[in-house]
Amino acid sequence: MASVDAASQSGVPGYEAVFDADPERKYVCPVCLTVMKDAVQTSCGHRFCETCIRKVANRSGMCKCPVDNTWFDTEFELFPDVAIRREILSLKVKCEQHHKDCTWTGELRDLESHMTLCEYIEVPCEYGCAENSIRRKDLSQHLETCDLRPVSCEHCNSSTTSVDLTKHQLLDCRKFPVVCSLCGKSRINREDISCHLNEKSGDCPRVIIPCPYQKYGCQFAGRREVMASHEKEAAHLHLTCMEQKVDSQDRQISSLDKTVQELIGILEKKKINFESVVSQLKESQMMSYNGKQLWKVKLVSGTNKYRSRSFYTGCPGYKLHVSLELNGHTESGQSYASLFVIHEKGQFDEELFFPFSASCGVSLLAVRPTRSHETIVTCTAVPRCRTDTEGFRCQRGRLRFIKMEELLSDAYCVENCLYLEISAHVFQLGSFTSEHHTVSRQVLGTLN
Ligand SMILES: [Zn+2]
Ligand SMILES: [Zn+2]
Ligand SMILES: [Zn+2]
Ligand SMILES: [Zn+2]
Ligand SMILES: [Zn+2]
Ligand SMILES: [Zn+2]
Ligand SMILES: [Zn+2]
Repeated sequence: MASVDAASQSGVPGYEAVFDADPERKYVCPVCLTVMKDAVQTSCGHRFCETCIRKVANRSGMCKCPVDNTWFDTEFELFPDVAIRREILSLKVKCEQHHKDCTWTGELRDLESHMTLCEYIEVPCEYGCAENSIRRKDLSQHLETCDLRPVSCEHCNSSTTSVDLTKHQLLDCRKFPVVCSLCGKSRINREDISCHLNEKSGDCPRVIIPCPYQKYGCQFAGRREVMASHEKEAAHLHLTCMEQKVDSQDRQISSLDKTVQELIGILEKKKINFESVVSQLKESQMMSYNGKQLWKVKLVSGTNKYRSRSFYTGCPGYKLHVSLELNGHTESGQSYASLFVIHEKGQFDEELFFPFSASCGVSLLAVRPTRSHETIVTCTAVPRCRTDTEGFRCQRGRLRFIKMEELLSDAYCVENCLYLEISAHVFQLGSFTSEHHTVSRQVLGTLN
């Protein structure tokens, strides 16, 4: 059986439909006085809406019949009255909107489905506008004209509501055609108007632009449309402007050129400084600080004097080098190579004591089977060097270090190279007695 619930909203348990004819008494609930809904019959033979009679029952389910005061048990003595329910649902009713001209009539059981379709019932606008009592039959017409209906802008295709479209087009729409206020050209998309008006790339003939020769000094500004004739009229002026500009640029260029030359000079100086730092660094890397040095002498024809790299007797220490002089001494027709130990101005001299005495062993290394040729040069009371060349004045050594033919023999000379091992050490600081001093001066450069 269809459950018809058309009147439940009013809170009355029974049907409140508009019946075509007054319903018979047997259909009316004695409790709520409307046509019974879900009719039930008691054991005493009276009928009620099910909701109405259950409200009358006490907690244990016992109920006193409102018509004849008979007690009955709602659990066992109350039955659905299917026959009367069917009769009630077959009663003829009018549409709830009959006062608004709906002419529908039908059986009570069909009322609910009619109400979902009734053209006269009032419904709210689907778009949510303020109209919320539109008869269903008028709704589609309303939706076509509703202010809130969705529309899309014909120019830019963006979606908006009907009421906002005009505002969108007047204020926001980038594709909306507008008219240039200067030249009157129409149908320019709003987004293109700034291009149209652009001083450099635009095409509006009425826009004021500067003369293209402004950068050369022409002060003229005028509408784009007159610029061609200005250029024609002012050709001479423009030429003069350009000449002046070229002159000033020439001056600038020569001043820049001067600056560049100065910078190049500075760079050159820096480069020289840098190179000297690099060579000092290299020298210090090669420098020996323990008084020892292995010296390879590469003999070159025509050169008699060879100088070893400088070395220090320690760190800090005195700076020395050794000099080898081929044919440095001749005696009785015999040529000798001479060898000298020379003190030079060194980086540690300020920290050191002068005079000092050092002994310097020099070995001319031999190729087998000959033994190396050795000598010890004693340098006594060596004074402080004040200049770079002062050391040569007090060099010590051996005038007859070795006979020339011996030196150049293949005992020592290998592929035109000699190998000398030098080992110096300081053995005394301070001055000697004048006697010693004299002796040592005599030893200076003496024959051995
Ligand atoms: Zn009732
Ligand atoms: Zn009864
Ligand atoms: Zn209706
Ligand atoms: Zn609406
Ligand atoms: Zn638009
Ligand atoms: Zn324009
Ligand atoms: Zn100009």
